[in-house]
Amino acid sequence: MENIPALFFEPKPGEQPAAKGQDEWEQDKLRRMNEEPGRLTGYNCPICHNKGKVYISLDTERECECMAVRRSLVRARNSSLSQDMLARYTFRRYNATAEWQQTAKEKAMAYSKAPAGWFYIGGQPGAGKTHLCVAIMNRLLKAGHKGRYMEWRSAAQALKAVLNTPEYLQLMEKYRSAPLLYIDDLFKVQGGGAVPPGDINIAVDLLYSRYNDPSRLTIISSEWTLQQLMDIDEGIASRIKERSGENALAILKDRSKNYRMKEE
Ligand SMILES: [Zn+2]
Repeated sequence: MENIPALFFEPKPGEQPAAKGQDEWEQDKLRRMNEEPGRLTGYNCPICHNKGKVYISLDTERECECMAVRRSLVRARNSSLSQDMLARYTFRRYNATAEWQQTAKEKAMAYSKAPAGWFYIGGQPGAGKTHLCVAIMNRLLKAGHKGRYMEWRSAAQALKAVLNTPEYLQLMEKYRSAPLLYIDDLFKVQGGGAVPPGDINIAVDLLYSRYNDPSRLTIISSEWTLQQLMDIDEGIASRIKERSGENALAILKDRSKNYRMKEE
């Protein structure tokens, strides 16, 4: 068989001799369609060349992976405290019944009146940490401070998606250089568990830089107390501790299931 030149083979019944040529032509056209540059900006995608879609055949297309990245970048870039949050989370509306709440509120109010360094509040979810931080932001924004809001989980997700690209530096610089930054839910991990190394790298990148310029105000809320943060990353925790000083608070649940507050 192998000595017979291919030329002598007859096409089997049903086989189209021209099919291969047609297929190659289609593949060629498909490749050209996919290589065509698009008009999307803000992130340079090597897969779709900024069209946001990938043709899988001449008449079918799918959304490119970069669209999720683009959406998270837009969200992170435009993220700000909503008017609704600012209206709801005021000092006046913070219901301080227990003694620890009174102390936490006093600390937060004092910081908002004479802001210096950082403010850290960590511990139990649902204890009103965000409420106090937004109330501080409310006051400071009204007093003319230029603030930026960073919802940790979505911002970290966006930053991780563009790691090692110019977009990373662009977005990171906004967080680094903000005169006032509120980091909401630092190291929040969906479903619990350990903080991913990628998140720690981003926090190092951000917080070490802010630490180096003491004029930058940083407000942080987190489910982790500073004590727990020490075990996650000592470099980060010790810098927060140093900059926050007496404004590092921990809200803990005690045995009677009541909350209590501890200065860290
Ligand atoms: Zn793409």
